Amino acid sequence: MSKVAVVTGGTRGIGAAISIGLKDAGYQVAANFAGNVEKAEAFKAETGIAVYKFDVSDPTACANGLAQIASDLGPVEVLVNNAGITRDGMLHKMDYDQWSTVMRTNLDSMFNMSRPVIDSMRERSFGRIINISSINGQKGQMGQTNYSAAKAGVIGFTKALAQETARKGITVNCICPGYINTDMVAAMPEKILDSIVAGIPVGRLGEADEIASMVTYLAGDSAAFVTGAVMTVNGGQYIANG
Ligand code: NDP
Repeated sequence: MSKVAVVTGGTRGIGAAISIGLKDAGYQVAANFAGNVEKAEAFKAETGIAVYKFDVSDPTACANGLAQIASDLGPVEVLVNNAGITRDGMLHKMDYDQWSTVMRTNLDSMFNMSRPVIDSMRERSFGRIINISSINGQKGQMGQTNYSAAKAGVIGFTKALAQETARKGITVNCICPGYINTDMVAAMPEKILDSIVAGIPVGRLGEADEIASMVTYLAGDSAAFVTGAVMTVNGGQYIANG
């Protein structure tokens, strides 16, 4: 039986590329999404990948969603915590809702999704948890105190859980993408986007497939010795050491 992989926010953008990459590598994939049913159904029809609608910021919804996936496909062996949102604004103009929505969706989701699968991974002595952070969690970004804090939190979560689970055959790693050509980035004003691209040594935005291939590597058996790592995939825009 092929391994079961869950990808949150797996029906669009980077997550869709991750879901497809894992399917092509032989995994049974469950792609989660929040509310864009039309996109999710089109993705399912196109790829044959099962889709599951639940909110990663809601712990009960995650527990129920993961139980449904395990009952449909089998125990979850690979978890990719990819779902994320932005609600940008300078702190002096940010309201509490902007702050807390980003924290709950981008950071609380790490707990909400990992907690229900960790016992079964420990019992089976195998697991792969791959968290999608961001370049802006490494370097900070003006207008994104909420997002930068949440994504930096993802790095801390990854490093701590990696230490807890290393002896159990479970690896926990995170990827910090730079600017990737997705809906999230396309929503930025053209002027700002041009100035960002000018600051990327490789001279272009990244492609979602370039994140997906890193996920497939980290999920595989050959990455068993890689844990607690922060994989920087950003075209040289920020050369980080952790
Ligand atoms: P998109 O906006 O293109 O897609 C986001 C996906 O996440 C969608 O499938 C969406 O579902 C889902 N989602 C959002 N909120 C929730 C929620 N509460 N519960 C469940 N699913 C949810 O995002 P990207 O592909 O651009 O980004 C993916 C990840 O990569 C994010 O964590 C982002 O922060 C990170 N990242 C992105 C970068 C980029 O340049 N694009 C750079 C660095 C990091 P639905 O379709 O239903 O809305």
